[in-house]
Amino acid sequence: MQKHIIVVGAGAAGLLAAGRAAELGADVLVLEKMGEAGKKILLSGKQRCNLTNSAPLETFLTYYGRNGQFLRNAYHRFFREELLALLRRYGVRAQEERGGRIFPQSGRAVDVRDALVNYAREHGVHFRYRATVQELLAADGKITGVQLAGGKSFPAAAVILTTGGASWPATGSTGDGYRMAQAAGHAIVPLRPALVPLTVAERSRAKALQGVSLRHVCCTLLARDATGKEKPLRPPYPIPPTGELLFTHFGVSGPLILTLSLAAVDALRARKRVTLSIDLKPGMTEAQVRARLQREFEQHAQQHLPNLLRGWVPQKLAEVLAQASGIAAERAIHTIRAEERERLVALFKDFRWQITGSLPLAQGMVTAGGVSLKEVNPVTFASKVVEGLYLAGEVLDIAADTGGFNLQAAFSTGYLAGQAAAS
Ligand SMILES: Cc1cc2nc3c(=O)[nH]c(=O)nc-3n(C[C@H](O)[C@H](O)[C@H](O)COP(=O)(O)OP(=O)(O)OC[C@H]3O[C@@H](n4cnc5c(N)ncnc54)[C@H](O)[C@@H]3O)c2cc1C
Repeated sequence: MQKHIIVVGAGAAGLLAAGRAAELGADVLVLEKMGEAGKKILLSGKQRCNLTNSAPLETFLTYYGRNGQFLRNAYHRFFREELLALLRRYGVRAQEERGGRIFPQSGRAVDVRDALVNYAREHGVHFRYRATVQELLAADGKITGVQLAGGKSFPAAAVILTTGGASWPATGSTGDGYRMAQAAGHAIVPLRPALVPLTVAERSRAKALQGVSLRHVCCTLLARDATGKEKPLRPPYPIPPTGELLFTHFGVSGPLILTLSLAAVDALRARKRVTLSIDLKPGMTEAQVRARLQREFEQHAQQHLPNLLRGWVPQKLAEVLAQASGIAAERAIHTIRAEERERLVALFKDFRWQITGSLPLAQGMVTAGGVSLKEVNPVTFASKVVEGLYLAGEVLDIAADTGGFNLQAAFSTGYLAGQAAAS
């Protein structure tokens, strides 16, 4: 007899889970609360879908922070090559770009979404849209089905929970899966926004810099604990030596900040005082900055500071730096004393901001935290709490850096959960 499986959520993980389970002969019904599948896939990678990354496995795993090891077994069985081969079968060819990021050649996320829906459909998966699952049904520690928000219930021998995170709720990922898994007895690691812009105490300074983007800066987060000691924070993901930062009216954003953000969010949760230190000239030592400033001060003795700094940094930043150094804009350069010039040197190498928080969970690109990995089998993605329940994708306590790592995790865990549920 065909095994009857319900997949809750038709996102990246759910589509792979459904397709694979049906491919192995199961009778699969996907219940999706939105009017179409894969709304988040459609938005991903600025609608171009950065679906995976070319980094070798060992490096790949480091982009998940300390939970990366949980994925090792899965990636030995269904990884990038298997994913790309599957997509090729459904007409999607991929290409690699800067930083090992892999996108569909067409540059269209919708092609990836459609290919995955076709994979599922071709194997006979049934889709039911605008169907919000409210509750997992279980008896004697064993799954029996699910119940919709309207009260209708569907029996199943296995349920695969792929409801995603709690970020970008307009895509349908509103965190329902966490609540349902918890009600079924699962522990939930506290949810935090990850890959999220940060807010700063220096609001008016940030506002003055709104829209300024710095391409090659180095950023370090420093945390001060209750004893008053300041230490660099270890970011969860590998940090490139330099990267791009963007000032916004509330604080800082841009790729480098997104990568660092979870470390800041977690340190603030631990009640530490968090400071962002920006090295505006990472290619120069402090002594080199000092020497160049000294030289330029001599050459442009009659100029004013903001004008001179414009040769170093964007205009808005030149003005802010001049102000932060405490040197009045109308003073001629030759009146600036050595100790005042030192303040500028310090600003160039250690431009500080106090981090007060982040934008809310809904505005992070991914949700950190989720169903505790301790209670999920890393080979089958079966729940260790409820028999017949499987969990895959962002609903799990997995959050990676940008670069295609989050989608690969959803695709791989989904595929393997579908495979195990059907077996
Ligand atoms: C703007 C943006 C850009 C991104 N870009 C990238 C990128 O380029 N590369 C990358 O690797 N990652 C990217 N990510 C992250 C990545 O998209 C997610 O990590 C990934 O989609 C998670 O897959 P998932 O299947 O677990 O969840 P989702 O894709 O979120 O799918 C969950 C599905 O479950 C449905 N659902 C939820 N609750 C219920 C319910 N109660 N009943 C029925 N259905 C339900 C939802 O409607 C949704 O369709 C991006 C995220 C965002 C927000």
